[in-house]
Amino acid sequence: MKKYFLSLCCIAAISGCGNTIILPSDSANDAAALSSNADICLGNGITIDSRFNNARVDDCVINDSRVTLTITPENQPINNSPWYAFKVSSEAKRDIDVVINYVGGNHRYSPKKSVDGKYWQPLKFKSSKKQLRFSVTASPTPLFIAGQELVTNQAYGTWMNSHKQSPDVVVSSLGTSTKGRNIGMMEITQPNNKEWLVVLGRMHPPEVTGALALFPFVDNMLSNKGSEFRQRFNILVIPNVNPDGVAAGNWRHNAKGVDLNRDWKAFKQVESRLIRDKLNAIVAAGEKIVFALDFHSTHKDVFYTMPSDYGLNPPLLVEQWLAQLAVEMPQFKVRQQPGNSPNKGVFKQYIADTFNVHAITYEMGDNTNRTVINDVAIKANDTLMKQLLNTPANKFYGH
Ligand SMILES: [Zn+2]
Repeated sequence: MKKYFLSLCCIAAISGCGNTIILPSDSANDAAALSSNADICLGNGITIDSRFNNARVDDCVINDSRVTLTITPENQPINNSPWYAFKVSSEAKRDIDVVINYVGGNHRYSPKKSVDGKYWQPLKFKSSKKQLRFSVTASPTPLFIAGQELVTNQAYGTWMNSHKQSPDVVVSSLGTSTKGRNIGMMEITQPNNKEWLVVLGRMHPPEVTGALALFPFVDNMLSNKGSEFRQRFNILVIPNVNPDGVAAGNWRHNAKGVDLNRDWKAFKQVESRLIRDKLNAIVAAGEKIVFALDFHSTHKDVFYTMPSDYGLNPPLLVEQWLAQLAVEMPQFKVRQQPGNSPNKGVFKQYIADTFNVHAITYEMGDNTNRTVINDVAIKANDTLMKQLLNTPANKFYGH
């Protein structure tokens, strides 16, 4: 076994995404993109490279044509989300057996491969709780292997910039993360609007299916279909709340080892404080947060909501919206799971308790069909826009 840790000199900046959402690639170097555990592992003409944004390999051993990788969490305790991403290549074309051992967690993500970081194919694999095994054909052209499609920090920048030319869209920086990375935001406003819809994503780095839902959800709102909506409502989109975690290929946490979706009460992290201060500034200007969505992934499709009897305004907004979504997407099971957890520091609870309006955690399953994720997001957005437009402004104040 040979293992080399390279200095922070060469960076493979990549941009990628799912097999249904194609983002433009961005080849610009981004020093901040290099993950702290970035390294390269060489042996028998085989190379395992994790020197790119979102990569994760914690240890690597190469024996003949077998590559054994170890994946460990950034710190513990931690939600079960063992994330891995790397590139494999070989001087001569050959079949390679890959074994991934999980420390501190159990298998969650099915392996996928991609030549260009954009188009991904599932790999056949065998898994147990602590181990994942699969074979790949490696060649001199590096092949990406990852637990989900790679949606990197650069991909968010590229996506937001693609909306820059749209009327009423301003792309800017909310501030910088713990490690100094840009936290980008999009504000879509018109001068007389007073009501705001808030969209967050990627508090949890491996939760890529949430990102694959956020993109079409927002794109739909910024298309012609959303023009009536945008004449009444402002929109704040912060799609990548945890860029340090994404860059490092973290399982869950930010650079300080904290779960950001447990910090919306203590506000000990700069990422959640920046968003809190932004929302407070909106309210201080006499405007109103009317609804918020926070995109995540879990083992199934589920919408975590606040209870309709929690005293939020208007009480039945979410219930009616999701009922309409179910009517319009009969082949998709709309699971609504209301919950109230006042002391956990979850974003949706913070929105409810602070602004007296509804918020949801929009969870897509890890393995949900990517076309379904896209279609549900568009329909969820269509129906939400309609629901909000049908709500008189005074109803968000409980009048
Ligand atoms: Zn999550």
